[in-house]
Amino acid sequence: MKRILVTGGAGFLGSHLCERLLNEGNDVVCMDNYFTGSKSNIYHMIGSPHFERFRHDVTDPFKVEVDEIYNLACPASPPHYQYNAIKTMKTSVMGAINCLGAAKRVKARVFQASTSEVYGDPQVHPQPESYWGHVNPIGIRSCYDEGKRAAETLFTDYHRQNGVDIRIVRIFNTYGPRMNPDDGRVVSNFICQALRGEDITIYGDGQQTRSFCYVDDLIEGFIRLMGSDMTTPVNIGNPGEFTMLELAEKVLTKVGGKSKLTFQDLPGDDPKQRQPDISLAKEKLDWEPKISLDEGLDKTIEYFRTVV
Ligand code: NAD
Ligand code: UDP
Repeated sequence: MKRILVTGGAGFLGSHLCERLLNEGNDVVCMDNYFTGSKSNIYHMIGSPHFERFRHDVTDPFKVEVDEIYNLACPASPPHYQYNAIKTMKTSVMGAINCLGAAKRVKARVFQASTSEVYGDPQVHPQPESYWGHVNPIGIRSCYDEGKRAAETLFTDYHRQNGVDIRIVRIFNTYGPRMNPDDGRVVSNFICQALRGEDITIYGDGQQTRSFCYVDDLIEGFIRLMGSDMTTPVNIGNPGEFTMLELAEKVLTKVGGKSKLTFQDLPGDDPKQRQPDISLAKEKLDWEPKISLDEGLDKTIEYFRTVV
């Protein structure tokens, strides 16, 4: 049994990770400031003698006696991370420094939830880990993209300079139960709009692409990466690539109802295409996703029917 800290543990991905680690017999400590997360995501774990939670902001230093730290604390949806851009940058940079300092003190292994956003609006397709990206440093997405890039730099420098045992995952768009219905991300938006009979909001012409990974596949990738000896970034995502129009049509077919498509302005710096090259994860972690978009959407729609 290990003692494991999950920052951002009350969020969408964090709550699934806490659950998986708890089910595997570990002692789990969940840290969150509840900015975008929610206690309802972790209610079912409260009461377990192996689950602890504390309200804390990752930008404030902390000390913990743990074997491993997973650093997930950071708003992930564009409207939420743009709500207070300065705070988002602080969360990524100061959060990384605080997690690395805490890990260094107790010689814990520390895992950073990075993102495909480090590739920006990519000019190489699909994106391998060796691609340095195409990122605007001063746009509306920069607080998130550059914050996550700086966090990768800090993780790598703490490893090189201080021997801290690091892991870095670059997560591509992930969806599933416990996404916040109002956080503005595309999968939750389309499903909730269809369930409410509202129009489906397509930003731009809907021809931009994303590759969607179901949460259970992603968490399996996290566990394999943490258990590996990879100290350089690894892409985890589902290579199945879809336009937003294709996604909207799938959701409408599955949910039924009378919703129509409505076209709205494309937000600034919205990446035109995104697809992970997962050769490294396949080779080093023997990992690849198992759940198709159709199967994952069915499970996610079933969840949203209970909350919308
Ligand atoms: P989420 O918003 O549901 O979860 C983030 C959690 O972090 C929330 O519980 C929030 O309250 C907490 N948090 C935010 N700022 C904090 C702070 N300063 N101190 C303490 N807690 C804080 O988002 P998610 O989808 O679960 O994302 C989790 C992590 O994975 C994030 O770091 C995100 O950047 C990364 N990521 C997610 C995706 C995805 O598709 N879901 C893709 C790429 C990267
Ligand atoms: N998007 C959309 N309608 C929505 C929400 C998002 O067309 O209601 C688009 C958005 O412009 C982007 C894609 O869907 O091109 C994915 O958006 P999301 O915010 O989920 O993730 P990210 O852009 O960070 O990959």
